[in-house]
Amino acid sequence: MKFLREVKKEKIKGKTCLLRLDLNIEKNELKDSLRLERAAESTRFLLKIGCRVVILSYKGQLDIGKVQRDKFYRRSYSLRPVTRELSRKLRQSIDFVDDLNPKNWERKVNQSKRRIVVLENLRFYGEENKNSIPFAHLLASLGDFYVNDAFSMSHRQQTSLCAITRFLPSYAGIGLEKELVSLNHVLKNYKKPLVLVLGGAKVSDKAGVIENLYPKTKHILCGGGVANTFLFSQNIPVGNSLVDRKIASQNIYNRFKNKIILPSDVVIKSGAILDIGPKTTDEYSRLIKKAGTIVWGGPMGHFEDKKFAKGTFEIAKTILKSKCFAVIGGGETTTAFRKVARMDADQNADKRRYISDNLRRNQRKSASVFLSTGGGAMLEYLAGRKLPALQALDDSNMRM
Ligand code: ADP
Ligand code: MG
Repeated sequence: MKFLREVKKEKIKGKTCLLRLDLNIEKNELKDSLRLERAAESTRFLLKIGCRVVILSYKGQLDIGKVQRDKFYRRSYSLRPVTRELSRKLRQSIDFVDDLNPKNWERKVNQSKRRIVVLENLRFYGEENKNSIPFAHLLASLGDFYVNDAFSMSHRQQTSLCAITRFLPSYAGIGLEKELVSLNHVLKNYKKPLVLVLGGAKVSDKAGVIENLYPKTKHILCGGGVANTFLFSQNIPVGNSLVDRKIASQNIYNRFKNKIILPSDVVIKSGAILDIGPKTTDEYSRLIKKAGTIVWGGPMGHFEDKKFAKGTFEIAKTILKSKCFAVIGGGETTTAFRKVARMDADQNADKRRYISDNLRRNQRKSASVFLSTGGGAMLEYLAGRKLPALQALDDSNMRM
């Protein structure tokens, strides 16, 4: 894989970069989005070198037939609001190309006088999901080289992530590189003991990580739907708690139970477990304080409601105070962590301690935390799988 940071500046100065970002961000998250921060950083890096940037991304799972018919539907999936926010962050005007006929894109991009152009949601075209060679060829005509800075999407086989690398010199962007460095650190040079903290709603994503990291791991602390599922698989009644029945039937708990720790007390409302209890929180915190490395994916409870946020917030606080290296991933988990980190910085007056990116490099005495933009992608990478878009970057370099 070739990294953008290592490319000689003279080689790409003045050229147009096709930059694949993950701008799949809900409107209500735009004001405080890790993905948007990373997207801005990545774009700024290219502008600084003197490149023009054409940004590719998508938003949402949508019904393509309806996109063509219904302009209100189309608007609800448009990348226009996120483009506006990106423009504000970069203090740069951005041209937005929303022509529904891809054949017009090359002309529109060439006509634009701006240094940044964003193409409308690529999922408006069925070809994006098909890893299509003709569509990739068309996209490639819009730039001189390609950069993937969408780690969080790299577990998907899509045209703008995979097939496109057949047609242009292709590089891993600075955000993607950071992700890989941090995750490889966990896989290869992690400091012992390694502790996994797993929760959240998407339980199946976490099974592969347990399997792959089990031999290296000291403890697997479970909360959220992961804990509910394992409790359920031992026939412990969990009422109408969030459970993944398919995973519960797969005997994962029994295979790995030597290291799995389940909550000893929980917070229940209307027959559903919605958070880990205070005893469990203390126990998990005690083990986290002793950890050398932590991987955290998935909140401990339904933290969006203050009544069920305590477990998740306490875990975040403990990680902030501990001396470990932590990788934290997933949309909801990173949102919860950032909230706590910000409160912590506010209370301690020294706001610089909290760098927007959360890489608290200067703070030797406390944890250094890497926030991964990937939920599913991070977990798949840690499960030892080769992500299709990363494979595509490798293959592209073999060819070019
Ligand atoms: P991430 O986005 O960090 O990858 P997930 O998408 O897997 O995490 O899960 C996040 C969601 O899980 C949150 O919206 C949270 O409310 C929910 N959640 C966590 N624990 C529970 C629980 N016990 N019951 C219901 N929902 C839960
Ligand atoms: Mg989520």
